[in-house]
Amino acid sequence: MAYLTLRNVNKIYPNGFHAVHNFNLEIEKGEFVVFVGPSGCGKSTTLRMIAGLEDISSGEFLINGTRANEKGPREREVAMVFQSYALYPQMTVYDNIAFGLTLQGVDEDVIEERVNKTAKILGLTEYLDRLPRALSGGQRQRVAIGRALIRKVGIFLMDEPLSNLDAKQRVTMRSEIAQIHQETGATTIYVTHDQTEAMTLADRIVVMKSGYVQQVGTPYELYFKPANVFVAGFIGEPPMNFVRSRVENGTIDFGGQKIDLAAARPDLAGMEGKEIVFGFRPESIVLQEREKAARIDCQVELTEMLGDNTNIYITCGEKQAILKVDSHDTPETDQPLRFYIPQESMYVFDGETEMVL
Ligand code: ATP
Repeated sequence: MAYLTLRNVNKIYPNGFHAVHNFNLEIEKGEFVVFVGPSGCGKSTTLRMIAGLEDISSGEFLINGTRANEKGPREREVAMVFQSYALYPQMTVYDNIAFGLTLQGVDEDVIEERVNKTAKILGLTEYLDRLPRALSGGQRQRVAIGRALIRKVGIFLMDEPLSNLDAKQRVTMRSEIAQIHQETGATTIYVTHDQTEAMTLADRIVVMKSGYVQQVGTPYELYFKPANVFVAGFIGEPPMNFVRSRVENGTIDFGGQKIDLAAARPDLAGMEGKEIVFGFRPESIVLQEREKAARIDCQVELTEMLGDNTNIYITCGEKQAILKVDSHDTPETDQPLRFYIPQESMYVFDGETEMVL
């Protein structure tokens, strides 16, 4: 039996807005699940329903197989870390971390032992006497995580916990969160709009759009086997290149050039005459001639050096796309370029439903 189950969960706000539609998910104990999607897709609403901070309009939420819809946040044994870490400014780090236990009237000795242990996991031992204002943003966020961790709850919920940090701190905290999860093994649900956070942290990712789950899968599955155009475009940086085209004589049109779809996907023979969305990832192209690949001639408009990789902005006729290559292979701008899309890196989606074919 799954540890947490969401079964046909819907959220309709009092103003009638249907924010979450038929959300279904099973989460195993110890799993790290990330909800990801653009702003307003219903991630926080779903998390808040799990936390017990928001009513479930219809459907069921179960913990260990027992209905928990009517249970309050405390009974659900959840701890939540929010975007704004909201520490008590007049309290030391020690007291901030200890706060929940102090409220519960836990023994001083026990509190001290647990604060020290939590501080050790979070690398805060030497800051226990400081006030929050004497900490960096990343350290403050760690205190906020500590405050949640110390409660030893079954479910750890995080809503964009890194969004107040600068880019460098975010990277550091990301790996720290992964480490904390490894050490504590707490079942974690983490909300973010950042696909890199989702990809690096998650055992499984739930991609949402406009209140609907688009796909649930491991980072590997989402990247290599996206269920639809939305997921394919959302996961990956720069995003997958797409072109809409009708299939004619087994080929599709890419900015005036033909791509032999029939050779790449003989299973799609029935698609003749139909509109499809063709996709390929910027990093999947090769510059060396290659068998079983589509050859494309394009014009280099701009290059963007990122360190070991370079993004190349190209045009093929009226079509624009982005390629990503090893920086040692950076081409000249305003020059023609020939590249190859390996057949195994081609994605084909239904033009109408936008589901993968
Ligand atoms: P973000 O990343 O911006 O926080 P999100 O995916 O977490 O977005 P939610 O906060 O879950 O999105 O909101 C989902 C939708 O529900 C949004 O369109 C939002 O405007 C709407 N919504 C949120 N709270 C309420 C409310 N109390 N009443 C009515 N609509 C709401």
